[in-house]
Amino acid sequence: MSSVQIPQDVRKVENWIAGRFEPGSGPELAVISPYTGTKVGVLHVSTAADVDRAVRAAAQAAPGWGRTPLKERCGVLFRFREVLLRDLDRISQTISLESGKTLAEAKAGLLKGVEVLEFALSLQNLDAGGRMEVSRGVFCEYRREALGVVAGITPFNFPAMVPMWMMPIAIGVGNAFVWKPSDKTPMTPALIAQAWKEAGLPDGVLTVVHGGRETVEAVLDHPEIRAVGFVGSTPVARSVYERGSRSGKRVLALGGAKNPIILMPDADVEMASRGIADSFTGCAGQRCMAASLLIVVGDGEKILEQVVEKAKAIRLGPDMGALISRESRERLVKGIEKALQEGATLRLDGRQAVAPAEYAGGNWLGPTILDHVKPGSSAACDELFGPLISVVRVNTLSEALEIEAALPFGNAASVFTSNGAVAERVAQEARAGMIGVNIGVPVPREPFSFGGFYDSKFGSGDITGASGVEFWSDRKKITVKWSAASDKNWMN
Ligand code: NAD
Repeated sequence: MSSVQIPQDVRKVENWIAGRFEPGSGPELAVISPYTGTKVGVLHVSTAADVDRAVRAAAQAAPGWGRTPLKERCGVLFRFREVLLRDLDRISQTISLESGKTLAEAKAGLLKGVEVLEFALSLQNLDAGGRMEVSRGVFCEYRREALGVVAGITPFNFPAMVPMWMMPIAIGVGNAFVWKPSDKTPMTPALIAQAWKEAGLPDGVLTVVHGGRETVEAVLDHPEIRAVGFVGSTPVARSVYERGSRSGKRVLALGGAKNPIILMPDADVEMASRGIADSFTGCAGQRCMAASLLIVVGDGEKILEQVVEKAKAIRLGPDMGALISRESRERLVKGIEKALQEGATLRLDGRQAVAPAEYAGGNWLGPTILDHVKPGSSAACDELFGPLISVVRVNTLSEALEIEAALPFGNAASVFTSNGAVAERVAQEARAGMIGVNIGVPVPREPFSFGGFYDSKFGSGDITGASGVEFWSDRKKITVKWSAASDKNWMN
């Protein structure tokens, strides 16, 4: 199947508690497909009582799972990987249907999540051998312990990949995981939960609850939950971090972004124009690593023309998906109007793009390029989260770096250049957590970890890689002496 199938029936979405589906008891919520604007699913929001039931099921499963030898836990992870790969097409259909992605993007996101799973499979090698004779006859040892019940709250834009930044590591180290997916993409989690079950994950180790703010607050306030991973917009990330920390939880909350690309006049025309066009249009610009600000140093006209040509050639539907909601499209249209009022000009107007006939009624907006945007204006600073890039023009690299440094976010920053010294300066001086050189979407691949700085992240460490292992676990330190005849040392 090469296109996204729109089902005629409305799917019932339920919580996943102790290995079976059960409805939430809160108000009804519709799941609307971005492709058509039609209702494709329906759920009942999870109340605090529903969340409590999920957490109790998790708490019951956690001790047994935490005591299961790591090699056995990794066996489940390995089988989970096989089920996901077998069901790649089916799961990708659901991801696309509810998030608006193209099928190719849905598959790529899931496969990127599988990379984190493969990293988690190496836990059995990473954690071996933490023991040492520290004095004669005295041994110190590290033991990694699960925290118990932990939770993950995830956004709409990567319904499978972002949860997979958390789940394999959190579950792999021995926790029971309570997942609150986006209320806009609640159907993919059912498929993922069933894949875990088929892989042999004991009931209760993964539970899924649904809803928005109230459900999240019930998770944040639940005393049994020890750690919360969150990925979403900056205002929500900040409040989740504050509320969760107040109730004594370990919280890592990743927020939004306004990622700049600095374009130098010596950049390779094809590499730069392809990289820029792909970065702001991929996933319809709805990814936290998308470039949405292009800082052109000196004369970038030839490359800009190529960016416009490449963006113009993108067909809505097969090449670029839909925006998540009608409100999201309206926010972008208002953003374009405001930028024009603030003096920007349009190089490419996505509002004129033709929606695909088979997906009429969806939230379609074509690639949009705003030129002569003023530094400090809303189009240069705010996250609009769509296929839109704002072009700001400067004369020097220092000016470009000043604009980057003034942004409140710090997720990603890239430079396109053929000069190594310029690239090194950007890597050193840019404030973002993830830097690209001639790469438009500088997502680090495993085992390099993922995470930004400043308003793009609240809490310390990164969400994946070795940092993720530390976040979802504790290290117990054991010091042992068995021989009474051991030498005198500082502990005698
Ligand atoms: P969002 O903040 O609206 O929602 C994220 C999660 O929080 C969802 O589960 C949602 O149901 C819940 N939520 C929404 N409003 C809430 C509230 N008031 N209180 C408590 N919980 C609430 O984000 P989104 O629209 O789903 O996702 C897009 C955003 O996520 C963008 O800002 C994007 O940059 C960001 N994002 C960041 C990263 C990263 O790694 N930094 C990755 C992906 C997405």
